[in-house]
Amino acid sequence: MILPGIKAYFALIQFNALNFGLLKNIILAIVLGAIAAVFSFRLKFLTRSGSRAAFLLALPLFALGGWKWSVPMIWFFLSSSILSRVRKKCNSGIDLYFEKSGVRDYFQVFSNGGLGGILVIMAYFSDSGLFYTVYIGMLSAVCADTWATEIGTLARTKTYNVLNLQTVEQGSSGGVSIPGTLGSLSGALTVAISSAVWVNEGLILYFCTIVLAGISGSFIDSLLGATLQSGFYCSICGKLTEKKFHCMRPAVHKKGILWIGNDLVNLTAGITGGIFAIIFRNILR
Ligand SMILES: [Zn+2]
Repeated sequence: MILPGIKAYFALIQFNALNFGLLKNIILAIVLGAIAAVFSFRLKFLTRSGSRAAFLLALPLFALGGWKWSVPMIWFFLSSSILSRVRKKCNSGIDLYFEKSGVRDYFQVFSNGGLGGILVIMAYFSDSGLFYTVYIGMLSAVCADTWATEIGTLARTKTYNVLNLQTVEQGSSGGVSIPGTLGSLSGALTVAISSAVWVNEGLILYFCTIVLAGISGSFIDSLLGATLQSGFYCSICGKLTEKKFHCMRPAVHKKGILWIGNDLVNLTAGITGGIFAIIFRNILR
């Protein structure tokens, strides 16, 4: 009679400790998420809707995932925002082409990080480390892609169509360059580094998995950019653009599928990065 009583007592203590830990994390998540949202709006890294989305995304990441899940996401977000700003200073003309400028809105926040929110919830209710690998593979891909874009357009450089290697205008979707490719590699590598302290398996295997997943995801992004992503022609200035409106007029649909824009392509690249992470992990192991 005594033994089950003691067992029940300890189980109760454990349960309370667990709940208290979660409650503490939720409060911390609300505070940190709010700080992050306010600062990224003030610093013009995010639009108003983007900063609200970032707050919503930060809640599960901070509360359920702790630093292990938050640090790589914060790294991706901060490094990309700073790179966008540097690139804007160095080569501002390229913005006329991009569908969206460096200030990210809610759709961009969700297409780059929404999957992370779903994965952290799944990982919380499961013992499998697989969700974390998928998450980091996804982040690696979106970071590789963003770094490739920003570093590839930092200065004037020769850019080639990923499909036929013909020279294209710098910054056009599906265009690849040597600085861009090096940027992609660095972006993926830094995401692997940002998460390495929480990894229990062999680090070389982990780095290879994450970097390969990131580069592959980024490559898929370029491939989709060259094929399915919509492109428009502005009859006022004669430029090809990702934007539906250019020079304050509707631009003419020129290539790709009308509803496939940059955000959807980014989302797909992220998902591919996650899937590639599992594939490479199994191949390399
Ligand atoms: Zn125009």
